[in-house]
Amino acid sequence: MNKIKIRALKYRGIFKPRVEQRDGVLERQIGRITIECIVGDIAAQKDCRAVVNAANAQLLPGGGVAGAIHIAAGPGLAVECRKWAPIKPGEAVMTSGHNLPNQYVIHCLGPIYGKDKPSDLLLANCYRNALKIMQENKIDSIAFPAISTGVFGYPKAEAARVAFKTIIDMVGQLDPDKRIRFVLHTKSDLEIHQKVLSELTA
Ligand code: ADP
Repeated sequence: MNKIKIRALKYRGIFKPRVEQRDGVLERQIGRITIECIVGDIAAQKDCRAVVNAANAQLLPGGGVAGAIHIAAGPGLAVECRKWAPIKPGEAVMTSGHNLPNQYVIHCLGPIYGKDKPSDLLLANCYRNALKIMQENKIDSIAFPAISTGVFGYPKAEAARVAFKTIIDMVGQLDPDKRIRFVLHTKSDLEIHQKVLSELTA
C-alpha cells in the first residue's frame, strides 16, 4: 500500500494506525489487524495458533530458528516435513505443531541474500504465502521470526521493511481481529523493527 493509498484510507477512517508502546513491546493496530514486535524465542510463543519457521529447503532441523523449532517440536515434525520437501525460496507450507505450544507450523524458505534474486520479491512472497495460509485456515494469531536475517544474510532493516510493507499491503485481504507477532532475537533487532514499523505507519 503506498502512502497516497494509506492517506486516502485514513481519511475514510478505514486505516487508523493506533500505537501502543509498553515494556519495550511495540503494538500497532491497522484496521482490525494487530502487529506486535517483541524480543523472545520463536519456539516459546504459547499464545499464538501458528508459528513460522525460517526453514531450509529440505525442511530439516538446522541451526537458528529451524533448530529451535525442531527441538521443541520433537522428531515427529521432521517426519511430517518429508512429504513437503524440498521447497523453493518464497514458498510456504504448513504442518502441525507436534510438541510445540502451537497448533501449526508454517515453514517458509527465505532467499539467501545476494544469491536468490530478486531477494526482496522472494522475501515478500514468504510473508504473503504465510498470511494466505493463515487466512485460508482461519488462524487468528501467528508469530514470525525475522526470516532470512540469520545465516541467509539479509540486512535486518531492509528485511523488516519488506516484511512490514507486505503485511500492510495485505491487511485488506485478511479477516479482522488477527494478531501478527514478530519475535526478535535481540533487543537491537527489536529496535530496528520498531523503527521501520513506526516509519511505515507514521
Ligand atoms: P535464515 O536462514 O532464514 O537466515 P536463521 O534461523 O539463521 O534463518 O535466522 C533468522 C533470524 O532469527 C535471525 O535474525 C536470528 O538471529 C533469529 N533467531 C535465531 N534463533 C531464534 C529463536 N530461537 N527465536 C527467534 N529468533 C531467532
